[in-house]
Amino acid sequence: MGMWQKELLSGLLLFLAVSIIGAMTGFFMPMALALALSMLVWQLFQIHRFEKWIRAGGGSKYPKMRGIWEEIYFHVYRLKKNEKKRKKKLGKMVDQFRQSTEALPDAAIVLGANDEIEWANKAAREVFGLHATDKGQRIPNLIRFPEFIRYLRSGNFSEPVLLPSPVDHNITLAIRIITYGAGLRLLLAQDVTELKKMERMRKDFVANVSHELRTPLTVLKGYLETLQDMDDGESRLLTTSFQQMQGQTERMQLLVDDLLFLTHLETQQKKSECINVASLLSQICKEADAMSANATARIELTLESDACIVGEEQDLRSAFTNLLVNALKYSPDNSVVKVRWYSSTDGIVLDVMDQGEGIAAADIPRVTERFYRSEVKRIKKIGGTGLGLAIVKHALMRHDGHLHIASELGKGSCFSCFFPLKRVCH
Ligand code: ADP
Repeated sequence: MGMWQKELLSGLLLFLAVSIIGAMTGFFMPMALALALSMLVWQLFQIHRFEKWIRAGGGSKYPKMRGIWEEIYFHVYRLKKNEKKRKKKLGKMVDQFRQSTEALPDAAIVLGANDEIEWANKAAREVFGLHATDKGQRIPNLIRFPEFIRYLRSGNFSEPVLLPSPVDHNITLAIRIITYGAGLRLLLAQDVTELKKMERMRKDFVANVSHELRTPLTVLKGYLETLQDMDDGESRLLTTSFQQMQGQTERMQLLVDDLLFLTHLETQQKKSECINVASLLSQICKEADAMSANATARIELTLESDACIVGEEQDLRSAFTNLLVNALKYSPDNSVVKVRWYSSTDGIVLDVMDQGEGIAAADIPRVTERFYRSEVKRIKKIGGTGLGLAIVKHALMRHDGHLHIASELGKGSCFSCFFPLKRVCH
């Protein structure tokens, strides 16, 4: 029998006893009333005791009781005890999480819906110079770099933004924002000072070496030309040696020029002029036609858009020329190289399409790497520096554009340069 039924039964038995005694003594009504009243007072007293116990937290041992009230006390006590255990476990987890995030070498700040600081770890406090009182402050009021504020508002966090630390301008931070939950954001900042320094050293080294190689190369070329002029053709060995030396110095000159141009793309300030791409393409195609007068691939230029692009003409000229020269270089006889300038839904596009040998799927992601040349080209000894597509990629990046390569072995390749609409000018 359940506790509730027992309670009901004892109430009924009490009422029965009172009824019998009441009937025998003739005081049934007053006795029944007294019983009801005393039961009510008893229950009220129990409710009062229960309320007092629960108000005190309900955690301590409950009063000794019997019947249904003991059951109620027991259940509430057990619930409270479980809750306490769960809270303790959660607290421990939060503590562990805090300790681990505090120990993180990267700065981490949790931002609320209005970009206010909700929590920051030790590295964040150090690198951004935050204090305990800054909790609840909006982050744009504390990190005031316009670039950072623009980044925060842009909502596009696919790439990190590089900024100096507000505490020490010699420290470069790569700041990235990760959105999660309902309007919450996590700001992560990594110290990339060393990385930037090494990158600058690499760029400086390449630029210096390329620059220093220019003078000896010019001298060598000059002497070679003189020697070739003096060569009377009597010794075949001497003549072929001169030819080979000339070929190699020319190749080296091309390498140095490409390396210097890549350095220019990486380091020089961007210039912005409105470039008439259609006329630039006509010019490049004409030059390429003239250069490859005896090559058998034909260039077909289609200008479907008159959109001009904001940027630097020299960069675009070099990028487009590299694509066209490659298309001609890797095309078979009697084929067509199609050049098309048109508008698409994503922006303005230049396609350079050839019917050449194509690129293996595994090579496609790598061909824009510096000095990457597919094995076939090396074996077949097709000339080239392996820097052309790296130049194309960087030149497009400077124009907020990107290169897309579609290619199939044996069928041909299509190199597409995408420019965003924000770059269009008139
Ligand atoms: P390269 O001086 O070797 O042409 P690039 O950087 O211009 O250097 O190109 C890198 C590699 O990409 C080339 O060696 C070649 O394997 C491949 N490639 C580039 N353009 C084409 C093309 N139109 N058709 C086939 N392969 C190409």
